[in-house]
Amino acid sequence: MTAVRVPGTPLIEDGRLVSTSPATGEEAGRLPVATEADVRAAVERARAAGDWWAGLGFAGRRDRLLRWRGVLARRMEELADLVHTEGGKPVGDAVVEILTAVEHIDWAARNARRVLGPRRVRSRLILAEFTGHLEYQPYGVVGVIGPWNYPVFTPIGSAAYALAAGNAVVFKPSEYTPAVGQWLVDRFAEVVPEQPVFQAVHGLGDVGAALCRSGVAKLAFTGSTATAKKVMAACAETLTPVLLEAGGKDAMIVDSDADLDAAAEACVWGALTNAGQTCIGIERVYAVDQVFDAFVDKVVTKAGRLTVGPDGADIGPITMPSQVDVIRRHIDDAVARGGRPVLGGPDAVQPPYVHPTVLVDVPEDSAAVREETFGPTLTVNRVRDVDEAVERANALSYGLGGSVFGRKRAVAVARRLRSGMASVNSALTFAGMSTLPFGGVGDSGFGRIHGEDGLREFGRAKSVTRRRARSLLPSMTFERTPADVARLVKAAKLMYGRGR
Ligand code: NDP
Repeated sequence: MTAVRVPGTPLIEDGRLVSTSPATGEEAGRLPVATEADVRAAVERARAAGDWWAGLGFAGRRDRLLRWRGVLARRMEELADLVHTEGGKPVGDAVVEILTAVEHIDWAARNARRVLGPRRVRSRLILAEFTGHLEYQPYGVVGVIGPWNYPVFTPIGSAAYALAAGNAVVFKPSEYTPAVGQWLVDRFAEVVPEQPVFQAVHGLGDVGAALCRSGVAKLAFTGSTATAKKVMAACAETLTPVLLEAGGKDAMIVDSDADLDAAAEACVWGALTNAGQTCIGIERVYAVDQVFDAFVDKVVTKAGRLTVGPDGADIGPITMPSQVDVIRRHIDDAVARGGRPVLGGPDAVQPPYVHPTVLVDVPEDSAAVREETFGPTLTVNRVRDVDEAVERANALSYGLGGSVFGRKRAVAVARRLRSGMASVNSALTFAGMSTLPFGGVGDSGFGRIHGEDGLREFGRAKSVTRRRARSLLPSMTFERTPADVARLVKAAKLMYGRGR
C-alpha cells in the first residue's frame, strides 16, 4: 500500500524511509529503517571501531578528519544541492552551512591533542612530593541525534568534536533529512574505510529513542526542548550522560546609538535566513523608543525585497509541513491581541511557503513572543531603554543566543543576556566561530559543542597522581604518628589560617 504523499512529509515504504522535497515532492532519499536490534548492532560494531579509532592517536585521527573535511569542501556544491532538495533550503544558505561545518571539522581535528592530550598539572605545597597528570579519554561510542533544519552543521557540531576526541559515533539524522546524514557518513567511510567509526541509523523518533537505550556511553542531542526532555529521561535509565542543544527564542536589542542600517540588515538575515527555521534565529526585537520607528522602516524595506519560492529565491519552503500551522497560529494570535503586521501578516501563510512577516506592538504574553515560531516572522517591540530590553529578553525560559546593536553599552548588555551566546553588532556569528563554545541555558539545554569546551564534552577527564619523593608530612597513611598530625595542624594554620 502506498500512502498519500504530502511534499516534505517523510514516509515509510517497504521498510525504507523516503524523504521528499517540501517544495516539489521530488524524492530525495530512500534509506533502510533500523530496528531496535539494528541500532544495538550498530553500537556493538562501533565499540570495536572506537577502540581502533582511539588507537590511531590524535595524529592519525587528525589526518583522517582533515581528509574528510577536504572531501566535504571539494564536493560542497553536490552536498548543497542535496540539502536544498531534501530540506528546501536555498542553495546559498546550504553553502554557508557547509562552509561553517567544514571549519568546525578543521578546528576540532587540529586542536584535539592540545586540548585533550596528556599533560602535567602542577601540584601545590600540600602534596608537593606528587606530580599530577591530566588527559581527556574518549567515552567509546557517542550517539548523535540531529534535527532537520541544519542537517550538516548540527550533527557535525557534535560528531566532528566527538570523533576528534577519539570516539566512534552512531548518528540518527532527522526523518526529514536522512539522505544528507547518510551522505556525510558515506564520505567519512571513503576516507576511513577500515572500520565503521561513523555510522547512521535511520527512522522515526523511536529509532532515536532506541539509540538512547542502546548502550552508548554519551548521547548528544540537538532538537526541540520537548524531545530533549524525553531523551534525558531515556538516558537517565542507564545514567548515560547527555548533551542537550534545544530550542530557542532569541532576542535582538537595538540601542539608541546603534548603526540602524547594519542592525536592520543583521536582523533581517538573523530572523529570515532558512525561512526562520534556525534555533538561534532572531525571533524578537526590542528597539529603544528613540530609534524604533526608523529601525522598523529599514527592516520592512529590506525584508520586503526578499523573494520567496522553490529555486533561486531568498526564502524557501517550510521544511516540516506541520510547522505551517504553528506559524499561522502565532501570527493570528498576535494580530488578534492587537499586534500590527507592518509586513506580511495572516495572508503571508501560503503553504508550503510563508512570506516575511514583521509584527509590531505584540503583547509580551502572546505565543509569537513566548514560543518558538520557527518561521520567517519577527516581532519588534518598543522599549524605554536597554534595561527594559534586557528584562524582556530574559523573561523567557529559553536562553540560547542573542544579539545587541549599539556602541557604548553593547558588550555590557550582551553579557547581561541570560543566554549561552550573543553577537554584538551582528547576528548568529558565534555559530561559525569554531574557537567559541556553543550551547544554551534553561529550556535551550546544557552542555557545549564547539571550541575547547566542545572537545572536552566528548572526553572523560582522567586524573593521575604520581609520587616523586618521600612525604615530609605524611598524612594519608596509618604509619603517621601523633607528632606528624601535630605538624599537619601547624602547617594547615600556617598555610591557610591567616587573613580573612
Ligand atoms: P525534534 O525534537 O522533533 O527532533 C530532533 C531529533 O530527535 C530528530 O532526529 C527526531 O527524529 C529525534 N527524536 C524524536 N523523538 C525522539 C525520541 N523520543 N527520542 C529520541 N530522539 C527522538 O526537533 P526537530 O527535528 O523538529 O528540530 C527543530 C528543533 O531543533 C527546534 O526546536 C530548534 O530550535 C532545535 N535546534 C536546536 C539547535 C541548537 O543547537 N540548540 C540547533 C538546531 C535546531 P525524527 O525526525 O525522526 O522525529
